[in-house]
Amino acid sequence: MSKGKPAFEEYRDAEINQLRERVKELRNWVNDLHAGMYINCVYCGHRYGPDTEVPASMADVLKKHIEQCPKHPMSALKAENEKLGTRLRKIEEAAREAIKRAQHGVQFLSPQNKCLMESVEKLLTDALGEKGNKDAHDS
Ligand SMILES: [Zn+2]
Repeated sequence: MSKGKPAFEEYRDAEINQLRERVKELRNWVNDLHAGMYINCVYCGHRYGPDTEVPASMADVLKKHIEQCPKHPMSALKAENEKLGTRLRKIEEAAREAIKRAQHGVQFLSPQNKCLMESVEKLLTDALGEKGNKDAHDS
């Protein structure tokens, strides 16, 4: 046992290392099994192997294909993810602009409207997961 490290951590680390070695062995085994086979993409039928000139495991070759296969569901998810990301950035931009306007215009409002505007500002700030200027002044 090395000094400073509790026994349970020694045991845990040894266990993790053993499991990592086992995973490596099993991955090599799967790669060996795939080595003499043809592998097809089930979505588009694209075929690899048995001795694809690519110096990688068949699993890696297939993973690479899946990322760009037009018929694999991941392509649709990637496209949707991109679309949603763009939309989210636009909404965040609009929310930041609304907060800025609310902070600028709040001084001209009646106490009732000021209260309403501050709660809208807080909702937007919370939704953005950012700390508003007001909170920053408070803390
Ligand atoms: Zn495919």
